[in-house]
Formats: sequence, structure tokens, C-alpha cells
Amino acid sequence: MREHSKRYHPHTAAVRCGHRRGAEQEHCEPIFTTSSFVFKDAAEAAARFSGDEPGNVYSRFTNPTVRGFENRLAALEGGRFGLATASGMAAVSGLLLALLKAGDHVVASAELFGSTLSVFTKVFNRFGIDTTFVKLTDLDAWRAALRPSTRLLFLESPSNPLCEIADVEAVAAIAKEARAPLAVDNAFCTPALQRPLQLGADIVVHTATKYLDGQGRCVGGALVTDNEAIYDDLFAMLRTTGPCMSPFNAWVFSKGLETLALRMKAHCDNALQLAKWLEKHPAVEAVYYPGLETHPQYEQAKRLLDGFGGVVAFTVRGGRRAAWRVIDCTRLLSITANLGDAKTTITHPATTTHARISAAERARAGIGDNLIRVCAGLEHIGDITGDLQTGLDAI
Ligand SMILES: *Cc1c(COP(=O)(O)O)cnc(C)c1O
Repeated sequence: MREHSKRYHPHTAAVRCGHRRGAEQEHCEPIFTTSSFVFKDAAEAAARFSGDEPGNVYSRFTNPTVRGFENRLAALEGGRFGLATASGMAAVSGLLLALLKAGDHVVASAELFGSTLSVFTKVFNRFGIDTTFVKLTDLDAWRAALRPSTRLLFLESPSNPLCEIADVEAVAAIAKEARAPLAVDNAFCTPALQRPLQLGADIVVHTATKYLDGQGRCVGGALVTDNEAIYDDLFAMLRTTGPCMSPFNAWVFSKGLETLALRMKAHCDNALQLAKWLEKHPAVEAVYYPGLETHPQYEQAKRLLDGFGGVVAFTVRGGRRAAWRVIDCTRLLSITANLGDAKTTITHPATTTHARISAAERARAGIGDNLIRVCAGLEHIGDITGDLQTGLDAI
């Protein structure tokens, strides 16, 4: 394959990397909807099966369209190896299946995506894998949680929904000392804003469902690493256990990556304007957005990120009734817990994404009944603020 990843700027790699033009001289990436591949003779079949010769065998293992997406995403993350999965959660569980065994220990940030938290506490705990949860921004807690049996550090930054920012460089240094790999879920930032491998992480975890697609069309995920031994383990586990990505979805995600940098910039611009507008509204108590100087990790976010992301959380004066009122008064914003879409979404974390954890845990995580999360889409900012104004003015 003509490999562009190391030679060109990421904006160029996003458009050009991962496509080998075929005999038809097609300009756009084709979709290879085939489950299997044929061999020119028995010897070639044998060489492909034994791994002596590279090449396609069966689409659960490799598929050219899926490979295109994997290579393009890997180029953007600055890693050599990408692996596509059926969903973001398939990437998370595949990572744990590949790297851990009974008796191993994991240190993870407490502020995790709900299903990721459940994978640790309800699935892998049954197989003798113990997880200690620590506050994302508390480096002493990360260090103190390490055990001789620690085999993985896992974090998600920025956190959902309060957008706390991890010092990925510092956690990576702790992981190196512990000789355990660090995995970072990069869903909120994408490689357009944060490149964890360059900050010292070993594995990047992705849900492609969110910003990589960016238009809410398909479910998918991916893992990226620069470590060949880790890649071999991930590949063997994922291709054996089966959660592969369909070629059609891979094609949608590849085309999504072409516009990722432009879209992320627009999401960030809208989110910052929204955060500043919310700060001035008398019905708003507090605004959580890393692009505001009032955010506790503002300086760190400026140092580590190329933008502050599209997610804004805020509290309103009053309790759940007031928060629900703001949500129910919207006519344009979509009331859904999804994010990373061209369409702006609004949700009440305490009764949706964080409803299954106890009230005490919610309080500890800072998720009050008066908290609202908005994921800024690509509509005009005036229409987004206008839609929120009705409910806020009514409080
Ligand atoms: C959505 C999400 C996931 C899971 O991805 P799916 O594609 O829905 O399986 C994991 N982590 C974060 C941060 C997410 O937002």
C-alpha cells in the first residue's frame, strides 16, 4: 500500500491515507462487501493460512475496506497499528480479553462511560480481574492504587459529563514505572484534539460511533497502538473472538475521518461560544467546560489538547424540575444521551447516563439533579442558544 502516514500532515493523512487504488482506477474508496477471498493456487492458500504470506483470507480477520479505516485512524493517532471493532464497547472488552488473565489487577479512572464501568465491575470481576477506581485527576491516587499484579491502567479524558482533564503524560509515566500499559479512551477529543500515544499512552481506545462518524449513522470502535507485541495480542484475540467491523461501516467511518478536523473545530467553536453564553445567564449556576478560565484544568487542557471539545455541562438554579424544564422547552436540540453528532444533543445525566449508580456515588462524582449536558453540534450557535433560552428564562 502507498503509505502516507509518516510523510504528511494529519489533515492530509485523513483524506489520503488508507486507500490503495484498484484496477478500476476509482477515486473514492470502494467497499469490499465480501466475506472471503480466493487464492490463485493451493500453495498460496497454505501460505496465507500459515501467516507466511500477508494477504486477505476471511473478513473476520482482515478486509480491505476495514483495513483502510484502520490505517487512516492509526495515521491520525500517530500509531503504526489500528484494529477496527464492532463497537466502542467491543474495543474495550477486546482490549481487556487480550491483555488480562485471572489474578490481574487494573487501575482505572472512576469517571468512566457507564458500560465501560460495568465491563469492569460486572463482567471481568467474574473472571478474577480486580479493578481499583481512582479520581482521574489525582496522581497520588493512581500511584497508591498500583499493586504488583497491576497489568493495565485505563482512563477516559475528558471525563463525562464534567469534562475533567487527565494529565495523560503524568499517568503514562506512572504506568511506565509500574511496567503496565496505559489505555486512553479518546472518544471526546478524537485524534484531532488529543493524541494519547504522543503523550506516552500505549493504546488508544475509540468508539467510532461518536465523532469519528460524526453524523450518527453507524456503530463501531477501534484500538490503536504503536507497540507491535500489544497489536499482535489484540489482533489474535479480536479476530478469534469475532467482534469485527462491517465493510460498510468502515467505509462510512473512513469518509468521516476526512472531515474530522474541520468538524471538531466547528464543534469546539460552538461549545466555547455556548459555554460563554451560559455563564452570563442568571438562571445558570455553574458551567463546566475546559475552555473556560474558571475550569480547574484550563491550563493543563491548553497544554495537552488542540481544542477543548464539544461537550458543555452546566447547573441551573433549582433542582431536577428546573433542569427538566430547560430540556423540555427545547424544540431544536435532540433529547438523547448520544454525542458526537452534527445535531446538538441535550441530556439530564442524573436520570439517564448516570441513573444506575447510587445517589451517593453521583454526589461524589459531582453529578447533581440540576446538571444538564449539551453536546454542541454543527448548527448555527444563535439557534442553539435561542433554543436553550426559552427554558432558562422560564426558571
Ligand atoms: C459511547 C462511548 C463508548 C462506547 O461506544 P459504543 O460504540 O457505543 O460501543 C465508550 N466510551 C465512551 C467515552 C463513549 O462515549
